[in-house]
Amino acid sequence: VDLVLFDIDGTLTQSQSIDTQLYLRSLSAIFGFEDVDPDWSRYRHTTDSGIVHELCAARLGRAPTAEESRAFRAHFVGAVAAHAAQHPFRQVVGAAEALGSLLRSPACCVGLATGGWGSSAHCKLLSAGIDYDALICASADDAMSRTSIMQIAIDRVIRRNGRPDSIVYVGDGVWDARACRQLQLPLIGIAAGTQAEALRAEGACAVLPDYADMQAFLTALSSAQRRFPLRS
Ligand SMILES: [Mg+2]
Repeated sequence: VDLVLFDIDGTLTQSQSIDTQLYLRSLSAIFGFEDVDPDWSRYRHTTDSGIVHELCAARLGRAPTAEESRAFRAHFVGAVAAHAAQHPFRQVVGAAEALGSLLRSPACCVGLATGGWGSSAHCKLLSAGIDYDALICASADDAMSRTSIMQIAIDRVIRRNGRPDSIVYVGDGVWDARACRQLQLPLIGIAAGTQAEALRAEGACAVLPDYADMQAFLTALSSAQRRFPLRS
């Protein structure tokens, strides 16, 4: 069985920029942090849990308390849900169809590994009309680093389905490319323009703007699976 792991924001849902705005607003509301650098690629861990930890360490000289962490997450997740109620998130073109086609294939299993919190990921996918329940998922609730989140998703898949023959990650951020390099996993990038160039420069084995050309996506996938089989 071949495992395909997906990022969510910017990869399955068109949510990256609103997500950033709401995250900045919650940082201001809960911690009073202003003038936060919104280039998440500059943070040590580009995840919902990692960024707030790094900012607290830099500005308060300590980790957030459990109470602060809870309040921050509740504020942010509430803002995502409120936004989705008024402006449903859109899926990346063809994302639901691509997931559906992989899920129907007996040779394939699909998982989600997101740097976002689980409940905000759930909300975005639901809002974008992407069926979430059948998918194994790891999120920022599970760990602060993206590589740990990806590894936890892989371990959950292995516990359910056994060891896969190959693992390919599908993501849109340079942090996805960096995490893939660390874990020695091939990346298929979902991006256009300068973002696509950045992903190629970071080692993505293919980059597509979306899933509109399903055949191109499936071809990129099977080429990555052939080139990077898992060694047993
Ligand atoms: Mg993303």
